Amino acid sequence: MAAAGQIIPLLLFVIGALLLIASYRLTRAIRPTGHVDQVDGDTEAYVPHGLLILVEDRLAGQPHGLLRLADRQQTIPIQVIDRASPAVPDQVAGCQMSAFCYLVEAIYDQEVPYGMLRYADLDVQIDWTPENRQALADLLSEMRLQAEASNVDRSHNTPSICAACIVKEVCDQALV
Ligand code: SF4
Repeated sequence: MAAAGQIIPLLLFVIGALLLIASYRLTRAIRPTGHVDQVDGDTEAYVPHGLLILVEDRLAGQPHGLLRLADRQQTIPIQVIDRASPAVPDQVAGCQMSAFCYLVEAIYDQEVPYGMLRYADLDVQIDWTPENRQALADLLSEMRLQAEASNVDRSHNTPSICAACIVKEVCDQALV
């Protein structure tokens, strides 16, 4: 009986250690799904195959790239913007990047320290902060409320958006 009393704690210790190792290996093994664009030491770049979708949040998006830092278990969404960086921060691009950070964090269960807007002349880092998380949550709540409204006013003053809009001929707020 004394031997059994010693063996059981030892077995529990071994099982616990194995579970810890398995959990560590599993976390390190989680990778974004997509075409592997580049592997360089502990850095892996991916091009997502399709939309990242969170059904419960009714949110979807597809960044141009994902940069995985395997040693830190972090993944960074990247969006390429084919123009020069603006003089003032682009709120729309920043908000879109917040959504990408949220999607990557939730879907791949990895820390997302920031996202990267890759302009033609400059890389701009958008930190994934509690403030940006709250701003995204507030925006999504407002969008869901307005999605149920019967009439919603235009939210921009950009003629080029209206010019490319498929309902501009019948829209009473079109700018062109
Ligand atoms: S034409 Fe109307 S619906 Fe289309 S983008 Fe402009 S304001 Fe929005």
